[in-house]
Amino acid sequence: MNILLLGSGGREHALAWKLSQSKNLDALFIAPGNAGTSRLGKNIPISPNDFPGIRTLVLEHNINMVIVGPEDPLVNGIHDFFRNDPDLMKVPVIGPLRAAAQLEGSKNFAKHFMKKYAIPTADYQTFDCGSVEDGIAFLKNLQPPYVLKADGLAAGKGVIICPTLDEAIREFCDMLRNSKFGKASQKVVIEEFLSGTEISVFIITDGISYKILPEAKDYKKIWEGDRGPNTGGMGSVSPVPFADNIFFDKVESRIIKPTIEGLRKEGIEYSGFIFFGLMNVGGDPYMIEYNCRMGDPEAESILPRIRNDLVDLLTAVGYRKLENESIDIDPRFTATVMMVSKGYPDHYEKGKIIHNEEMVTGSMVFHSGTAFHPENGQLITAGGRVLAITSFGNTLNEALNQSYQNAEMICFEGKYIRRDIGSDL
Ligand code: AMP
Repeated sequence: MNILLLGSGGREHALAWKLSQSKNLDALFIAPGNAGTSRLGKNIPISPNDFPGIRTLVLEHNINMVIVGPEDPLVNGIHDFFRNDPDLMKVPVIGPLRAAAQLEGSKNFAKHFMKKYAIPTADYQTFDCGSVEDGIAFLKNLQPPYVLKADGLAAGKGVIICPTLDEAIREFCDMLRNSKFGKASQKVVIEEFLSGTEISVFIITDGISYKILPEAKDYKKIWEGDRGPNTGGMGSVSPVPFADNIFFDKVESRIIKPTIEGLRKEGIEYSGFIFFGLMNVGGDPYMIEYNCRMGDPEAESILPRIRNDLVDLLTAVGYRKLENESIDIDPRFTATVMMVSKGYPDHYEKGKIIHNEEMVTGSMVFHSGTAFHPENGQLITAGGRVLAITSFGNTLNEALNQSYQNAEMICFEGKYIRRDIGSDL
């Protein structure tokens, strides 16, 4: 098969790495990709949101399947674009149609869906600029801390948790009246605060049947001890020790099944990954959010644990034959440590030379923000998150130690890693 993978991060490098192990892969194209993916396939400098450009690429290279890594092309309707084009409609797209991508693209849509299908989640209300005073009154009736969410996509920054009522009212007004997150905060969801431990659960589904993939825990804050601003993710581990069979049975019956059932009842087709961002509240799972794709850096911990041929698995998704597949999971632990640029998630410099990457043994190195220098071909930094180091271990500590050892060895100016990934487990 000729496969086109859209995206350019560590998730996409991990996907490319896994796809390239398949006996059924003839050619892999990645748009736009990064330095790491260029070693596994052909990078094409086209944005995943340039649908006409993607169309040309698919037709020119006889692409048999398109796998969408990031959320924005899905929320922008890339799958619908394929569906509505007579030349593309037969090419399976792994990633949902726009209507289903609203599970990630609109917090209000997702919360409404959860309530409608009795999926446990925090109580909430949604407000717009015509109902600011109602929102303030709603806040006054809640207990601190206060959770405010911009309705639309805001590059992972649209959720604010405020310790005091004054701050919550100020932020709420800033989001609605001053468009703090642009169009994304035209509506704001205010919800009850849930206290517990977070866990990321993933499935793949063809809309009829689903398969549960390994779970993971990711670490979003920049500083150790879960402090500081949110990032795209500083590391992840899989499996998550507290997620035992009893917990998973609840996740499946209370969350996964009602979600699949709800999509079916709404007449919304789905093909691809669903990420369930959950809070374990005293042993009971509550939904925080849906994502309509794999997480990053969770993908870097999860994909190595899946022993199946990923091309076969995704082909079954694309042709709605997932029912016939079974998932084979490596029981070992994986730990992923993210190496980032100084200053991330705010301002950071790019173009720093990366040393020793080729010397890594015993770990997988997934590139996130990397490039080759256009003149001398040296590997350089090209983003805030630069490299994800993933290792296997028979224990979580073994996996972590191995990843940290290699992450210490690779260097570039301004390198930062969080040294407490997995230590809470
Ligand atoms: P979201 O984008 O909805 O996943 O929110 C980002 C992060 O905010 C989550 O990963 C949680 O850490 C936190 N969060 C969101 N909603 C809540 C809530 N209701 N209670 C506590 N923390 C929350």
